[in-house]
Amino acid sequence: MASKKKGPRQHIGLKCSECDNFGYITSMNKNNEQLKKQAGEATFPINKYCNKCRKHTEHKQAKKLK
Ligand SMILES: [Zn+2]
Repeated sequence: MASKKKGPRQHIGLKCSECDNFGYITSMNKNNEQLKKQAGEATFPINKYCNKCRKHTEHKQAKKLK
């Protein structure tokens, strides 16, 4: 019997902050992220290549995926 545990690791989407292109799906550890935020080292926004802009842009966390 596999129980569905809601862990700290969540899937999120990454969206380009310039053109809103939804380019990446990644996962993050919510607990780690909170610790990083407190230390002022938050992962997001993150610099990633955008296919639409054809350059590196800031990507923001778009939404939680199921
Ligand atoms: Zn873009």
